[in-house]
Amino acid sequence: MYEAVSKVMYNRVALIGLGLIAGSMSLAMRRAGVAGEITGYARSQATRDTAREINLVDRVCDTAVEAVKDADLVVLAVPVGAMGPVMAEIEATLKPGAIVTDVGSVKKSVLDAVLPHIPEGVQFIGTHPMAGTEHSGPRAGFAELFENRWCLIVPSETADEAEIEKLESFWSALGANTERMTPEHHDTVCAVVSHVPHLIAYTMVGVADDLRRVTDQEVIKFSAAGFRDFTRIAASDPTMWRDVFLTNKDAALEILGRFTEELFALQRAIRTGDGDHLHDYFTRTRAIRRGIIEAGQDTDAPDFGRAKKGE
Ligand code: NAP
Repeated sequence: MYEAVSKVMYNRVALIGLGLIAGSMSLAMRRAGVAGEITGYARSQATRDTAREINLVDRVCDTAVEAVKDADLVVLAVPVGAMGPVMAEIEATLKPGAIVTDVGSVKKSVLDAVLPHIPEGVQFIGTHPMAGTEHSGPRAGFAELFENRWCLIVPSETADEAEIEKLESFWSALGANTERMTPEHHDTVCAVVSHVPHLIAYTMVGVADDLRRVTDQEVIKFSAAGFRDFTRIAASDPTMWRDVFLTNKDAALEILGRFTEELFALQRAIRTGDGDHLHDYFTRTRAIRRGIIEAGQDTDAPDFGRAKKGE
């Protein structure tokens, strides 16, 4: 007789925070059938009301404590600076054997903030899905967000190998590829590929905003691809990014220092008319773009932000 094979990996998953990442996880979990029940909590009544209205999770709870009760997997999906306070609130309610994970963009400070609140019999395994958009909130999520994206796995030193592998399989079921890292390595890699590029975009858009006052709207009116791409990145959530720079200070400053040195070198090449330097530099960076496309992390479509969604 045929017996349906259950795909459920965790009987109850609790999402703390109901924004872009948690919402996308809920929709991806439902699609993959890996969670028995999904509970969710957000601090504001408005977000909880929206989550109920759009049926984002199976049960929206009015407290974090209620959401994590009997949960097998607890996902902290709040800004990095809020992870410690949230853990302090829920630690006494976590059931023995539960796995606590987070999706924060910084790892060392999250482990430092969270580990003191992990009770005996509960394990913490950090994760960071390298996927996002400039949108936030409960309506921003979509099930495909993690498809073919990397999810970096940063286990605590005491986590069981079997539980780490199970969480890796969970992220694979949500569409992601996984790779393990230490917290320090994670924070350096992310400073290079995400954090400092965001800071540069914020700065460039800020400069243009100042100029706009001089050039009377021309920056917006004639906005070209390079600047438009920066504005998309610079529209990302201010709370999330404030916390990223406050908590990944060392790695961000290290990479920013190197960036500044390179910028000065390019500035000198422009002033002295050193075309060879500029050409060699741009040739090297172009190869990196090709590598990203070959690795399937972006498409080669010449869109420059002009194509409409779905085209
Ligand atoms: P989001 O859409 O802005 O949602 C954040 C959620 O956290 C909301 O439900 C919000 O509740 C709650 N929250 C905010 N401040 C809080 C506080 N002080 N205490 C308790 N709850 C609080 O954010 P997100 O993009 O999903 O980001 C969540 C986490 O994922 C962050 O740690 C971020 O670093 C990480 N991450 C983000 C991206 C990205 O590109 N967006 C990518 C990878 C990882 P209310 O709605 O009630 O205010």
